[in-house]
Amino acid sequence: MSIDHAAAPVRGAGLPASITPALLNRLASQVAAAPGAATVTTTAPYTGEPFAALPSSTAQDVEAAFGRARAAQVGWAATPISERKRIFLRFHDLVLERQEQGLDLMQAENGKTRRDAFLEIMDIAITARYYARSVERLLDPKRRKGALPLLTHTTELHHPKGVVTVISPWNYPLSMAAGDAIPALLAGNAVVQKPDTQTAVTALWALDLLEEAGLPADVWQMVIGRGSVLGDPLLANGDYVMFTGSTASGRHIAQKAGERLIGASLELGGKNPMIVLADADIDRTVEGAIAASFPSAGQLCVSIERMYVPDQIYDEFVSRFAARTKELRIGAAYDYSIDVGSLTTASQLETVATHVEDAVAKGATLLAGGTPRPDLGPLFYEPTILADVTPEMTLFDHETFGPVVSIYRYSDLDDAIQMANATPYGLNASVWTRDGARGRAVAARIHSGTVNVNEAFAAAWGSIDAPMGGMGDSGLGRRHGADGLLKYTEAQTVAHQRLQGFTPPSAINHDQWSRILTLALKTLRRTGVR
Ligand code: NAD
Repeated sequence: MSIDHAAAPVRGAGLPASITPALLNRLASQVAAAPGAATVTTTAPYTGEPFAALPSSTAQDVEAAFGRARAAQVGWAATPISERKRIFLRFHDLVLERQEQGLDLMQAENGKTRRDAFLEIMDIAITARYYARSVERLLDPKRRKGALPLLTHTTELHHPKGVVTVISPWNYPLSMAAGDAIPALLAGNAVVQKPDTQTAVTALWALDLLEEAGLPADVWQMVIGRGSVLGDPLLANGDYVMFTGSTASGRHIAQKAGERLIGASLELGGKNPMIVLADADIDRTVEGAIAASFPSAGQLCVSIERMYVPDQIYDEFVSRFAARTKELRIGAAYDYSIDVGSLTTASQLETVATHVEDAVAKGATLLAGGTPRPDLGPLFYEPTILADVTPEMTLFDHETFGPVVSIYRYSDLDDAIQMANATPYGLNASVWTRDGARGRAVAARIHSGTVNVNEAFAAAWGSIDAPMGGMGDSGLGRRHGADGLLKYTEAQTVAHQRLQGFTPPSAINHDQWSRILTLALKTLRRTGVR
């Protein structure tokens, strides 16, 4: 859909040349909002200047978007899978070809480094390729074991749910916007999505590329606005809801989905632990600890906020980790020269500063960082390492979602595993050792949806053929793998009974029939049939 809006795009000083007023105007016109809609202006984190003025959708706009999506979904579901696959492989190519523009947009609205933004380009290319190449296998009708051998012909079918609601956050503007929509769309659904307003331009860029790749109009629609205004119509109209955000919001969404008995997949917060074993390669682990703690300035649901290090290597590991952290280059640059970027919003900066001040006031020791950097831009905060963190400090068990990690010493591995598990969350974890088998054994004891051995998060996240999601307060359902697409479908079993059914033939009475069936069951048991 494309509607003319009166709103002029805003383009602050210092933006890269690829972000033109014409581009922002075209992307703004993709928002599902009536002509003349009120506008909302976003802020560029690097500078604090206005970035883009976007139309603000109303509840009526959301209802209208669902109406159009429902009509478009019928034709889309009837489109051959081979054609859907072709469109998503073309989208894959466009994302890689136009990556410089996508990287610029992600950095401009989120404040992350180019390296962090590039991970999102890779992630979306991998997701598009994987699901485009898997969709036929996943959706093809499957023969299943029939109730009566040879006599019952049973098939499992998968139908699209209809129109899926996707609500996505601001921390990974491309991955979170497109990563969950791709399998929903490939499965034959339409999607009405509310990306976070702060990073909506990147989501609109993905929609624009997918339509260029051949997705029919109205199959994927974006509404922009506050959850408190758009939440009700989004949850009242969708046939399934995919939500990524905080645990508090996730509980509310799950309640709403429960009232309507629609399915929901919730990817929520975490307080992710990393356990270093005494035999770990220290050089590799120090670099791993940096990669684990400060990606996207720590605004990553799977980044590490707690580290458990054994007595034997504690002093050496901690002094080297702190020294490397102090060397990291912080700043704003639209190139690959920077290690740690900006936080995205003033409220995120406030949370980070408050958590660190509270910990220090209650006796925590700062090993690195601990200070905002207004000299670099309004929302920068130094990568920070804390020791001597105790349970009365807020960040001991609350997610900070910033560049802050707490280090704890341990002498017994069982204690470290117990401390790692002493949280209601269970999203991601990391284990470091030279002994792979031992690392995998420790991993299996951690209460967490993904665990990486000798990696921070990218090994498990990037293993897109395997499920990814949270245990406990970290969520419900999984993205990635077969479930990441099949959850957007209704399974249907069609069982065709041939010749003899479950009632006795006319020549046999019920007594004889029950004895024949008993004999048949015993025979099946003896033959080893499942
Ligand atoms: P949030 O829950 O406040 O908001 C997330 C998005 O959901 C926002 O765009 C918001 O407008 C929208 N929203 C919230 N309530 C809504 C409602 N009732 N109806 C409709 N929309 C609603 O979260 P946040 O603070 O913006 O994001 C950070 C959180 O997200 C962190 O806790 C982080 O761990 C989590 N997160 C999790 C994952 C994951 O994969 N598990 C990924 C990224 C972020």
